[in-house]
Amino acid sequence: MGEQTQTLDLVSIRNDFPILNQKIGKHPLIYFDNGATTQKPLSVIQSIENYYKTFNANIHRGAHFLADKGTTAFEGSREKLKNFINAETAEQVIFTKGTTESFNIVASGLAKSYLKAGDEILITGMEHHANIVPWQMACETSGAILKVIPVLENGELDMESAEKLLSEKTKVLSFVYVSNSLGTINPAKELIQKAQKLGALTMLDCAQAVGHFAVDVQDLGADFIAFSGHKMFGPTGIGILYGKKNQLENLPPFQGGGEMIKEVTFEKTTYNELPFKFEAGTPNIADGIALGTAVDYIQSLDRQAVEAHELELLQLATNIIENKAGLRIIGTATHKSSVVSFVSDHAHPSDLGTLLDQYGIAVRTGHHCCQPLMRRFEIPGTVRISLSFYNTKEELNAFSGHLDKVLGMLS
Ligand code: PMP
Repeated sequence: MGEQTQTLDLVSIRNDFPILNQKIGKHPLIYFDNGATTQKPLSVIQSIENYYKTFNANIHRGAHFLADKGTTAFEGSREKLKNFINAETAEQVIFTKGTTESFNIVASGLAKSYLKAGDEILITGMEHHANIVPWQMACETSGAILKVIPVLENGELDMESAEKLLSEKTKVLSFVYVSNSLGTINPAKELIQKAQKLGALTMLDCAQAVGHFAVDVQDLGADFIAFSGHKMFGPTGIGILYGKKNQLENLPPFQGGGEMIKEVTFEKTTYNELPFKFEAGTPNIADGIALGTAVDYIQSLDRQAVEAHELELLQLATNIIENKAGLRIIGTATHKSSVVSFVSDHAHPSDLGTLLDQYGIAVRTGHHCCQPLMRRFEIPGTVRISLSFYNTKEELNAFSGHLDKVLGMLS
């Protein structure tokens, strides 16, 4: 704290996040678990409160003032998200529960409409379970086969193997932009282009990207993109599926019910147009609106300054871990987001996490929903510190001192 870069006023930024200003026991909270979920600025919290206090009503169908106001706010939020990711149109921005649901919509839809026995779905060895299991389920129903691009020792993708694995049989390439457990930033555009040359559909997991740097869906060119609101300073229970218009139109609906229909008879139902075809039932109105407020918040920041600050934090965190005897960083890719995962020669990750918690330090320990990746590195899990722009060098230095004490206790 007390630090001020040219354009990033950390004192004022931290004041925007009320949760950060508290003690856990005797110690100030040090929140290093942003990969799991980010904290929410006051404006997002107030947006939820304001909706329930002043204009709660069901949207789209209502013929009264509050319903109109809610519809305008919800659709206004969709427009903000469209601009945030540079989508071509707002109808290509589907509100979902989050990244996981977005993957399930696409994988289950493609299993019904596109995949055939013997087709190949290519993912990578560093995927979150959300980008593994839905495809395995799609393989079960369609007879497609799952293939995996291996991960190198430094946590980068084995691009030579990727070249070999990509073929005319590849019908889907789905992979993570930024690895939640290693921090690796993958060469997304390059891989997408290679797959598209072979005629494959592409899907990009942007869960860990959108909270750190600008994601331009038109520039990346993926057919589908998924992310979660709660990892970009917005609420839980809301996220986005973006898709190219023709791909979304070709994809069958995920759930049936109200809102997603054009006309229902007992003989036959016709489906609504985009985006409503994929938004069955009453949507998560309050959180959808508040996600737009999170976009406003991110866009009020100097994003270049945010990236520069996060890079400094990454470098300091890397130095701290590298310089402690018996610790080893898992994931040393050249291009990394502000994540440092490590293991100790002497201590189990969960013991380290539990003891760090005694000093008010929130880290993640375990497999980070990437069990195959942990198996690849032959480890039970890691201790992961995942940093956001509101974290400070002072917090990292305090963490370093506490980590010494914890390592001393466990050696
Ligand atoms: N992919 C990645 C890379 C993630 O980090 C996460 C969340 N840890 C997910 C997918 C799943 O996101 P959610 O639980 O919000 O659906």
